[in-house]
Amino acid sequence: MSGEEKKVLSVSLMTPTAQFSNDLADVLRIFWGVIDLRVNQPGGRVTVTHREEMSGDERTCEMELTGEATGFSRRSARISPDPLLEKRYHKRLIKQTLYDVMKRIAGAAPPWGSLTGIRPTRLIYEAMGRGLTLEEAAAETRALFDVRPDKAELLRQIVTVQTRIAEPRMNEVDLYVGIPFCVSRCAYCSFLSGEVGKGKQLPPYVDALEKEIAGILRLIDEKGLIPRAFYMGGGTPTSLDAGLLNRVLAAARPFIDRAREVTVEAGRPDTIDESKLLVIRDHGATRISINPQTMHNETLARIGRRHTTAQTEAAYALARRIGFHHINMDLIAGLPGEDEAMFRQTLLWSRDLAPESLTVHTLSIKRSSLLHLWEAQLPDGGMVERMVEAGRAEAAARGMRPYYMYRQKHMAGNLENVGYALPGHECVYNIDMMEETGHVLAAGAGAISKRVDPSIGRIERAPNVSEVSQYIDRAQEMLARKQALWAGNWREGPRPRPGADGA
Ligand code: SF4
Repeated sequence: MSGEEKKVLSVSLMTPTAQFSNDLADVLRIFWGVIDLRVNQPGGRVTVTHREEMSGDERTCEMELTGEATGFSRRSARISPDPLLEKRYHKRLIKQTLYDVMKRIAGAAPPWGSLTGIRPTRLIYEAMGRGLTLEEAAAETRALFDVRPDKAELLRQIVTVQTRIAEPRMNEVDLYVGIPFCVSRCAYCSFLSGEVGKGKQLPPYVDALEKEIAGILRLIDEKGLIPRAFYMGGGTPTSLDAGLLNRVLAAARPFIDRAREVTVEAGRPDTIDESKLLVIRDHGATRISINPQTMHNETLARIGRRHTTAQTEAAYALARRIGFHHINMDLIAGLPGEDEAMFRQTLLWSRDLAPESLTVHTLSIKRSSLLHLWEAQLPDGGMVERMVEAGRAEAAARGMRPYYMYRQKHMAGNLENVGYALPGHECVYNIDMMEETGHVLAAGAGAISKRVDPSIGRIERAPNVSEVSQYIDRAQEMLARKQALWAGNWREGPRPRPGADGA
């Protein structure tokens, strides 16, 4: 038995709705973190017994906990005649009933209440779609899901900024190009990114990308689509040398020239040099990312980021000298070995670098990360919350506004990741992605293309294979998947009011 198996709490969930067991597990994880869930199998250290009964048009749900934790709760709700809505309301009822008893047992209210989805802003849009004002929608979300007032206010602020930014029109499309290579693996990373090593795969990868991008551009022309935002991410696009970077950007140039926003992630400061930044600038990038995550060299070494604070400072100075006017900075609250004072030092230090946008992430430990492999534990949620609040205050002091957010599973303190920007520096691609409001054509290993019909909340995806050598061999097939995705005629519609996410 491994150390983790000994520590993890086993929970038997006895439920008549096994189809919702993952949703119920998400509620348990809000309070208990990692658990070993056994669906309809007795013998766990805690047993959750879920019962339901119907009476007329009402469903009553009961949750009873026995074993190492005990408690009981009951809730009722009307049954909707609309089968789709009914499924959502049914799930919501059982989650909230379990949340009630868990909250009583824990004696504490989590910041996001019973919400477990990654896009809480969707609830605001959904309520506004029913005719509520933004303020009413935020208040309803707070009351329905026990969201703390400061988090409901954060949602209100984000949607305020988003609704002032032109939403994607039905014929607009974003282009994403993925470079799934990094110079070393960061311990917290869960992306599908491999170490670049000697770089043998890079030239054939770029050959395949050029073909795929050319095919995407033909598809855009055939379908009468209009470029909106270009985003080159990864991985680390600046893992490519200047020559390869130039080839990829040149392939995408017809799109870039018509796009309203062009982002290239130059995430790792140790991959940046003048020749690469000149290539990026000369192809028209309006926004780059240079991401220190922390100013503390000992933390960087601990998490496997092979760069130093001095390299970050040099990269910012170089980018400014070359003429970049919008640099985004990513920081992470709760990195291993860091305390609140260290995070505050990072915030203060970042002032001098003066990024135009700042993304404050909360550490999460995903299964595919090295931290998970090392059996690292999440830091104290209260401490990370103070870090996140300090980040919010710092962004506000610099005149930045929160403009997008998302949550993840296994996050310290069940908090959130928030993007802040100076007015006019919001990244529309980030909003399009998080709100799933626009089409995306995506090139590269693991990249996912998306076609949306916001009028009915329909989203269809065409994923590329994620393994690099497979992608190199099958780039033509990836293109065919996108052509199939755009084969039918979809009707146009108004701005989306997406269905509730995870609620
Ligand atoms: S640089 Fe980014 S993508 Fe690459 S390993 Fe680190 S976190 Fe992951």
